[in-house]
Amino acid sequence: MKKSFLFTSVDSFSTTDGPGIRCVIFLAKCPLRCIYCHNPETFIPSEYHEMSFAKLKRMYESMRTYLNNGGGLTFSGGEPLLWAKQILEFKKFMNDDIDICLETSGNVDNEYVDELVKNLNSICCDIKFITEEEYAKYTNGSLKKVISFLKKVDNNPKLAENCVIREVVVPTINDNLEYLINLGNLVLSNFKNIKKIELLPFHDMCIEKYEQFNMEWKLKDVKSMDAEIIKAFNNKLNEHFAGKLKFI
Ligand code: SF4
Repeated sequence: MKKSFLFTSVDSFSTTDGPGIRCVIFLAKCPLRCIYCHNPETFIPSEYHEMSFAKLKRMYESMRTYLNNGGGLTFSGGEPLLWAKQILEFKKFMNDDIDICLETSGNVDNEYVDELVKNLNSICCDIKFITEEEYAKYTNGSLKKVISFLKKVDNNPKLAENCVIREVVVPTINDNLEYLINLGNLVLSNFKNIKKIELLPFHDMCIEKYEQFNMEWKLKDVKSMDAEIIKAFNNKLNEHFAGKLKFI
């Protein structure tokens, strides 16, 4: 196995991609085609760069003083589960002395995923849609696969405690309380230990990328989601689920 990753970009100081301050590597390739994808470059091989384990280690070590304070390295994408084997190897390469978070759609299963789940410190999983029909229509993937992946996370109580299920709230598609209550019920009925859900407001700041790559942006008639509405949803949902789930 080649000791390197293919990636599209790096954010060396993020506070929104897992706990604490994190260095984020956006890995190449994704099996999905979400209608609201903000990283379409992850489907375009000419946008890929290679990073050796040694270079990533050097980068991580140079940031360790601020990453060590409750943060670490986040593998995002694209879909990092496609790189499960390399992430496990990289953790060994770091002598296990690294905090790893994954930002994933959970829509991949391969022989390394079970082992990877045991080696993560935290995880953010975008569940996306709550019926197979919507999931297929808007992402080209399968909700069943995500539930199956999240069950692996749920069976590991320590990781489940550090798991956040994410949902992008898109005007005209899922921006209503009933939909979000159904999302909460789906989580409660499938998982014992995962309790946190983060609603993310849809926005269209990626339009320029779609133009640059000559790709169709299918949500041109959809406005960005108002963050105040998300706050109001959170309040109502926390009241509705009365401590059984936490909307953050
Ligand atoms: S899973 Fe993420 S990277 Fe892949 S298509 Fe969906 S939004 Fe884009």
